[in-house]
Amino acid sequence: MKLTTIQKGFYQINLGFVNAFLIDINGELILIDTGVPKKAGEIVEAIVQAGSDITKLKHIILTHAHPDHIGSVAELRRMSGAKVYAHSIVAPLIEAGNCRRPGAPLKPSPGVMSHIFSWLMPLIASGKVTPLQVDVKVQDGDIICGRFKVLHTSGHSAGHIALLFNDSGKNVLIAGDICMNMSKLAYSMVYEDIALGRSSIAKAAAQQFDIAVFGHGNPIMENADKLLRNADFYKAKL
Ligand SMILES: [Zn+2]
Ligand SMILES: [Zn+2]
Repeated sequence: MKLTTIQKGFYQINLGFVNAFLIDINGELILIDTGVPKKAGEIVEAIVQAGSDITKLKHIILTHAHPDHIGSVAELRRMSGAKVYAHSIVAPLIEAGNCRRPGAPLKPSPGVMSHIFSWLMPLIASGKVTPLQVDVKVQDGDIICGRFKVLHTSGHSAGHIALLFNDSGKNVLIAGDICMNMSKLAYSMVYEDIALGRSSIAKAAAQQFDIAVFGHGNPIMENADKLLRNADFYKAKL
């Protein structure tokens, strides 16, 4: 686990190949995504490193239902009693403990390093996590905790949400898996529907934000909206 301060009160928790995010608003903690199963202990450690404790965790927002994002949510909810938020399309999957949408196979995106894909795929394919009741089912345009605007950005998966965070600091796009930023901005490894995925990247890029953080890869610390708007990977002909 590696904790990185993105800006005051906003932390990236690197859990190996996937990130979660911790936001402290006046002492109340919000966690975005939870890594793969068995990562609750590392997330608790990250919370301590950020100067707080698990009892302050009040809200857990899930960008989508893939197991590298919802793997440890049941354990963290048990420990904290936090409210869990997800889009209404993915909530039934989380409630069934099933990370895969029936009839919606994941297809590899163009130009992605195949070894990363082959490494991740068995994890996604296993598809089962501890079922969990979703407390708040969100929709496009909803505002969560007064600070996070929900952007329904399907394509990687239906019901995927990105979040636009707006506080006293800089605006931050929490991109989830709409795309990734490993060595550079690129498609995520897999999409249910790549055409929808492209329009979702454009939808997120049209917002105003200085910083962008990703489920996979490194944050962009300035002019992130312009960089995403001007990136050509999602505009090239498929
Ligand atoms: Zn995903
Ligand atoms: Zn992911």
